[in-house]
Amino acid sequence: MAILVLGGAGYIGSHTVDRLVEKGYDVAVVDNLVTGHRAAVNPKARFYEGDVRDKTFLSGVFDKEDIEGVIHFAAFSVVPESMEKPLKYFDNNTYGMISLLEVMHEHNVKKIVFSSTAATYGEPKQIPIKETDPQVPTNPYGESKLAMEKIMHWSDVAYGIKFVALRYFNVAGAKPDGSIGEDHHPETHLVPIILQVAAGERDQLTIFGDDYDTKDGTNVRDYVHVVDLADAHILALKYLQAGHDSDAFNLGSSTGFSNKEMLEAARDVTGKPIPAKMGPRRAGDPSTLIAASDKARKVLGWDPQFDDVHEIIKTAWNWKETHPKGYDDRKGN
Ligand code: NAD
Ligand code: UDP
Repeated sequence: MAILVLGGAGYIGSHTVDRLVEKGYDVAVVDNLVTGHRAAVNPKARFYEGDVRDKTFLSGVFDKEDIEGVIHFAAFSVVPESMEKPLKYFDNNTYGMISLLEVMHEHNVKKIVFSSTAATYGEPKQIPIKETDPQVPTNPYGESKLAMEKIMHWSDVAYGIKFVALRYFNVAGAKPDGSIGEDHHPETHLVPIILQVAAGERDQLTIFGDDYDTKDGTNVRDYVHVVDLADAHILALKYLQAGHDSDAFNLGSSTGFSNKEMLEAARDVTGKPIPAKMGPRRAGDPSTLIAASDKARKVLGWDPQFDDVHEIIKTAWNWKETHPKGYDDRKGN
């Protein structure tokens, strides 16, 4: 039987497809390539180009494939864009989930592992953040993902579709051999932007705000390596295959690094000066996000291999140096 990965041509999805294939799973991928890359998909996975919201297309894939469970990455995830275009996020993300669950229900597929996010918590009341803490998003992106979690909950109650919501903190890095990595256009995430400056593609980094109530005034985030994250999805799948109930898990390192510390770490790793300036706060940014991730370690048996941001940045830099133009598949620019 196959595992269907929605959004498997994206950054995290492609690393998960790769790990699934490496571990001997039969994998099919659905992606509309709106932000993903065909070249990122492991050639051993069957690829279907199309939109999760297109139920006719999606039903056709479920008819063709013998699907045991799905892993759902297909979504938009840029916080500032979601502040300006909230409906785009509720349409693609939240409606996309409704479409997927309808097709799963029609085809009697009962297992889904879902890419949720720390953005569902909003401004935390306590650090580290536990899975049981209040979820009060501060931006439409987080709200669209929280709605997706709730829709899965009620689909479990009504149809018995079991889910694992994996609430990622900050994801970075690339497959250590440098064959796949992060390639977003435009890039908005801190680590790849810092490395674009290191590579001379941008003049300087702008750090968004240094007046937060943190150790050095800049935001603090919890970084997890993309391959460790990919492995957590496979463990979540096994957890559902073992017949366990639906649940949510934080995925983070439980250590916080400030934006200034990340810049210093990247200077160490690359040996480049990486010019930077301070800028105003970015709308919708919580001050500090650090995960309590002991539940994933205990219950899923998750054992992340990359526990040092230098190592994480090193793998991202290796990808950057070997792929200066990313996948080089952009049309017209
Ligand atoms: P990405 O943009 O690289 O990947 C998303 C993939 O989904 C892309 O290949 C895109 O083409 C595809 N897609 C989007 N909408 C689609 C649709 N309607 N139909 C079919 N395909 C569609 O993003 P990513 O960084 O890999 O993130 C993946 C998931 O992880 C997202 O859902 C995001 O919310 C979540 N997440 C990411 C981070 C992070 O740091 N990158 C942190 C927390 C949560
Ligand atoms: N950030 C920054 N400059 C940039 C991009 C990001 O200072 O050019 C900061 C951002 O404000 C946040 C942290 O880096 O404090 C991580 O942002 P990212 O977008 O990578 O992930 P998020 O925390 O939003 O999921």
